[in-house]
Amino acid sequence: MEKKALTGRLYDVQGFSVQDGPGVRTTAFLKGCPLRCPWCHSPESQAFYKQLSWMSMRCLGVQACKERCIKACPKGALEYGEIRADAASGGSLQLIHVKRDLCGNCGKCAESCYAEALSICGKDYTVEELVGRLLQDKKFYERSGGGVTISGGEALCQPEFTIAVLRRLKEEGVHTALDTTGYAKWDVLKETLPFTDLYLYDLKHMDSEKHQAVVGVPNEQILDNARRLAGENKKLQIRIPVIPMFNHDEQNIRATAGFCRELGEAVEVVQLLPYHNLGVMKYLRISDKPVAEATPPDDAYMRRLKMIMEEYGLPVTIH
Ligand code: SF4
Ligand code: SF4
Repeated sequence: MEKKALTGRLYDVQGFSVQDGPGVRTTAFLKGCPLRCPWCHSPESQAFYKQLSWMSMRCLGVQACKERCIKACPKGALEYGEIRADAASGGSLQLIHVKRDLCGNCGKCAESCYAEALSICGKDYTVEELVGRLLQDKKFYERSGGGVTISGGEALCQPEFTIAVLRRLKEEGVHTALDTTGYAKWDVLKETLPFTDLYLYDLKHMDSEKHQAVVGVPNEQILDNARRLAGENKKLQIRIPVIPMFNHDEQNIRATAGFCRELGEAVEVVQLLPYHNLGVMKYLRISDKPVAEATPPDDAYMRRLKMIMEEYGLPVTIH
């Protein structure tokens, strides 16, 4: 019997990224993550399963579509929702509402939605399908000193697939980066070592209890893995999302800086990523649940945090 090809589940592939490592890069975003950061700007990355997404701004209204999507649903999970003013016609549009408790994420409604207001988030690729897509941009990597970044979600939740893709990319001479929460068994992370040139490594809070309380997992394994990567002479770009009322206080920033200094030469740069609320709109596409929002830290405060970290001899940037 023929062996089934290994597949991985992604929610996006984005070309021309200049934020995910050196040069121009293409980033593959894998679905599924063990953390539940309330500020996540890609909430569609968290669940492993495929999810129905509805973008209200694209919806043409049920009158124009003759209730096509509602009729397509075998579970009765679509109903009339809000009414929105329609600037183009001067009238109003009757929008839909997704009853998430009934929806089975089958995608039948999305097939009927010509406006692509409805879509299924999550697509399965074989290793060769994904590598083929990533190699389409190889000339941009070569010209810019870029490459491919494997991101998530947490790519190490699909370890076999991630390692196989990284291995194939190295065979093709492509620079590889792995964007990770660091929350994985060392035995899994260790297998990426031969095929990963750079780790984009998130540090969220130095206090494990606060880490657990807010993102759902403790931080010991994350810190330990960072030390081990440094011990293997791997290069790290440390990423710190600066989240008001969680990790933005000076005490935590100093503790994080001290930890980064402990990692020594491994740390190429520390990137401070100020919280923004762009993820809120994305939550509304896949969920009805209320989303926590915070006020983004201002530029002066971010510069202060940068100066504090620089006191520890670290190269620091604000993104
Ligand atoms: S979701 Fe799509 S098919 Fe349904 S009313 Fe909106 S635009 Fe039309
Ligand atoms: S994804 Fe399937 S179950 Fe969910 S609303 Fe669409 S048709 Fe109904």
